[in-house]
Amino acid sequence: MRPTGPLHLGHLTGALDNWVPLQDQYDCFYCIVDWHALTTDYADPSKIRENILEVAYDWLAAGLDPKRSALFIQSDVKEHAELHLLLSMVIPVSWLERVPTFKEQQQNLQDRDLSTYGFLGYPLLQTADIVVYKADAVPVGEDQAPHIELSREVVRRFNHFYGPVFPEPQTLLTPTPRMPGTDGRKMSKSYNNAIYLKDPPDVVRAKLKPMVTDPARVRRTDPGNPDVCPVFDLHRAFSPKASQDWAAEGCRTAGIGCLDCKGRLTDHLLERLSGIYARRAEYAARPDTVWDILREGAGRARAVAAATIDEVRAAMRIKY
Ligand code: SF4
Repeated sequence: MRPTGPLHLGHLTGALDNWVPLQDQYDCFYCIVDWHALTTDYADPSKIRENILEVAYDWLAAGLDPKRSALFIQSDVKEHAELHLLLSMVIPVSWLERVPTFKEQQQNLQDRDLSTYGFLGYPLLQTADIVVYKADAVPVGEDQAPHIELSREVVRRFNHFYGPVFPEPQTLLTPTPRMPGTDGRKMSKSYNNAIYLKDPPDVVRAKLKPMVTDPARVRRTDPGNPDVCPVFDLHRAFSPKASQDWAAEGCRTAGIGCLDCKGRLTDHLLERLSGIYARRAEYAARPDTVWDILREGAGRARAVAAATIDEVRAAMRIKY
């Protein structure tokens, strides 16, 4: 995960809620990718340090467990960079140019010069992040699946030249429920429409109150359609079935007003966030402990990554 700042509800339902249970089934490596942050934010890296800490607080608060999983910072494990370099010898530039997000992001972020070598190589660095642990599976949403496909192609080409060093990582498709922001567009920090895991209850209430609803429901007496209402998407993610049914029925019959509907949603959401608030506050009071957790995680990751690099160097005949 890139350290772009505190995490919001979209990160919770799209990533963390999937990652936490994986800890019961796999040896997990969760990495805060600061080098990836530099691929787009190289001109102003001043926030990266602070953002790493914000991400780590949210991870720990959401239930990632440093006793079971390695939680670490990418640049603390230099083997990622070495493997990226070695893979870059083998992979044609055209493979990277055709990654869908390459052109897309260049167009979306026109205020920055993304004609850099690092930005082009971003998916290859991501491949190194994955295969340096010989990962069997990578939990991603559908939009990230092409990147994992590229990783598999890279592995096949590498193994073709140097023998079977890497397993092909599988895509572990994880559900990413639609998570609209308060303006109805996709929840995103850059749209300024996000509800953050660290937002206190009064801020959550204040953000949800004016949230856009079914645009056709203008008056309290107009029946609405929950299927086109962003508030109802949040009900689907955070409310129990009984409250979802209450909201859908009340909406369609104009039996409830939008403020009633948002009020019930807010209660359920705050109930869900209460455990996160408590754990986050504990960690945020002890940043040194969190840096220690990340360093310890890097140590565990490095042991695995170093063994892989050893094997890679031998396979490439550069182990002396
Ligand atoms: S009642 Fe609820 S679901 Fe219906 S339009 Fe209002 S906020 Fe949306």
